[in-house]
Amino acid sequence: MSVRVQKTFEALFALEDLRGILRGSLPTGLDEEEEKAFREKISDLKSIIAELEEDRGTPRTTMIADTLPIRSREENYINIQPIQAAGRLTTEARKALISYGDGYSTCDACRKPFRLDKITKPSIAGFHADLAKFVNMDQARVVPGARRGFQAVASTLVSKGDPVIVSALAHYTEFLAVEEAGGVVKEVPLDAGNRVTADATAEKIEEVIRESGRTPALVMIDHYDYQFANEHDVRGIAKVAHQYDIPFLYNGAYTVGVMPVDGKAIGADFVVGSGHKSMASVAPSGVLATTDEWASKVLRTTAMVGDVTNRKFGIKEVEMLGCTLMGGTLLSMMASFPAVKERTLHWDEEVKKSNYFIDALLSIEGSKVLSEYPRKHTLTKVDTTGSFDTVARTHKRRGFYFSDELAERGIVGEFAGATRTWKLNTYGLSWKQVRYLAEAFQEIAAKYDLPITT
Ligand SMILES: *Cc1c(COP(=O)(O)O)cnc(C)c1O
Repeated sequence: MSVRVQKTFEALFALEDLRGILRGSLPTGLDEEEEKAFREKISDLKSIIAELEEDRGTPRTTMIADTLPIRSREENYINIQPIQAAGRLTTEARKALISYGDGYSTCDACRKPFRLDKITKPSIAGFHADLAKFVNMDQARVVPGARRGFQAVASTLVSKGDPVIVSALAHYTEFLAVEEAGGVVKEVPLDAGNRVTADATAEKIEEVIRESGRTPALVMIDHYDYQFANEHDVRGIAKVAHQYDIPFLYNGAYTVGVMPVDGKAIGADFVVGSGHKSMASVAPSGVLATTDEWASKVLRTTAMVGDVTNRKFGIKEVEMLGCTLMGGTLLSMMASFPAVKERTLHWDEEVKKSNYFIDALLSIEGSKVLSEYPRKHTLTKVDTTGSFDTVARTHKRRGFYFSDELAERGIVGEFAGATRTWKLNTYGLSWKQVRYLAEAFQEIAAKYDLPITT
C-alpha cells in the first residue's frame, strides 16, 4: 500500500476515534479524562498528518476491529473488476456514509404517515420523485438491490406455475425471483451475435402459449446483459410483450446510473436499476420504478388487520415490507445522485475509452473480443487464449503470471489466474488511466514476445 494511502486511512480512523470520544461525552462537554484522551488523539493525528504530508512512516494500524483489513483497492490500484466499476462511491457518498452510517439514520424526522419515501428531512421524498423522473417513469422506490426489484414485481404478478420470459443471458437473480414466486423461467434463445431480438421473444411467447396453454405473466429482459454486455432490443421486446398484454420489466442493472434511460420511450412497465452496480452507492441498494397503472398493484398498501389488537398499518407497502433503505445505503445514493445524473450525459465518452482499450488489446495478436464490437458498453468479455494464455501454458505460475504482471503495474480486478476468457470494465477510468491500462497490457505482451500489430 502506498504510504500516503495508508496514512490517509490512519488519519480518518484517528478522526473517528475522536468522534467516538465526542459521542461518549455529555452534551455539556468533555470531562477531564475525555479531554485528555482527546488531546492525545489530536497529537496522534498531527503526527499522522505530518507523515501523510511528507509521504513517510510505517503502518500504525492495518486492521479494523483487529480482524478486518483496510480495503484500499480503489486508492492503490486501477480496478477493472467487471461488477465493481460503476458502484465505486463518489467522494460525496463517502461523506454521507460516515455521517449517516448509524442504523436507522434516515428516521430522525420521520413523521406521520411513517414511510421512508415520505420523509422530507433529509429530502428523501424529493429524491424519490427525482429518481422516477431520472428514468422517466411515474413512481420510484429504493430497494435493496436490483434483485429485490425483480422480487417485488414477480411476487405481485407471478402465480404458481406461471411462465416468465427471460433471456438466455438472464442474471441468476431473475431466475431466483421467478422461482420464489412459484413461476417458471422460459428463456429466449440468442441470435448468432449473442443478442435477444424482438422476433425471438415473440416466437418464445408463442411457443410457451402453445405448449403450456398459459400466457407468460411477465417479460423481463436486460438492456445490457452481464455476460457480454451486448445491447438487446428492449424497445422492440417491450412492444412484443404488450402485443400479448404482458407487462415488461426493463432490467437496467448495467444501465441506470451510467447512461440515459427513458422508461416511457422504451415502453417499460417496470424499470429496475442497481445502486451498488451502477449508481455509485453502498450495497445493497437499487431502484424500482413503475407507471401509475402498475404502482397500484406492485406498490399496494397493507390490508392486514390484527385479530387480537385490530391493528392496521395503513400506507405501508407490502412488497417493500414497509421501509427499505433506512440508513447509509440510501444517503449514499442521494449523495451520489447529482454526479450520477451528470455522468450519464457523458456515456459516449466512457464508450470511447472502452473501445480505446479494447483496440489496444486487439492489437496484441491472438486476442479476441467475445462481446459485440465495436463496444457499446464499458463491460467487455475478452478471449486471450491466443495471446496471454500461450504464455501461461509454459509459465511456472500458470495463468497467475498475468495477474502478477498486472498487479506489479498497479492493475487489479481481472479474474486471477484466468488467461482465456474473462471480463473487464473500464467504467469511470480517466483517459490518463485508460491509456496507462492499454500500455500496461502491451508492455506485458512485449515482455513475453507476443506480437503486436501497430
Ligand atoms: C448485477 C446484476 C443484477 C443484480 O443486481 P443487484 O443490484 O446486485 O441485485 C441483476 N441483473 C443483471 C443483469 C446484473 O448484471
